[in-house]
Order: sequence, then structure tokens, then C-alpha cells
Amino acid sequence: MAVPKKRTTKSKRDKRRLHIFLKKPVLARCPKCGKLLLPHTLCSYCGYYKGREIVNILGKMTKKERKKREKEMKEKDKETQKKKPLDWKQLSKR
Ligand SMILES: [Zn+2]
Repeated sequence: MAVPKKRTTKSKRDKRRLHIFLKKPVLARCPKCGKLLLPHTLCSYCGYYKGREIVNILGKMTKKERKKREKEMKEKDKETQKKKPLDWKQLSKR
């Protein structure tokens, strides 16, 4: 069995472990439902990508799950309708 000739110093050990850490994932928000998702991917919650419905998420669910999800989506739509639409002057400020 190979045996190390010298003990690794704290400095050497810590330098080696300098790059061992978890990276924060890059996340974007779905423009339709506002859930976090990986950029350039289909939203797994609402099935939308680039403003179009790609996958019918509700079709694959059971009746109970579907009712719950539809309720959630309706509430979300109400919230977005409550917010006043920005006129072009406010948009140009952003
Ligand atoms: Zn979504």
C-alpha cells in the first residue's frame, strides 16, 4: 500500500479544499406564474415557455390535483389584474 512520505500541512490541505463548495444555482422567474426556474427552460408549474403554452400540465394530473392547481392559477390571475397596468411614461422610466 502506498504510504505518504510527509504529513500534509494545514496550509496545503486548506488550499486544496479552497474550491470545494456548493455554488448557488442561477434562477429566473416565470413571467406567467412567478415561480423560480432555470433560465431558458420550460416552467414545470404552468407549462409555459416564451409566453406560449408548450405542455398541458393540467391534462396529466388527477382530478383532485387539477382542481387545486386551477384554483391557485385563478387567484394568481386576480392578483395580476389588480395591479394597475403601467402607462408608457412609467414604462420608459424602468
Ligand atoms: Zn410558470
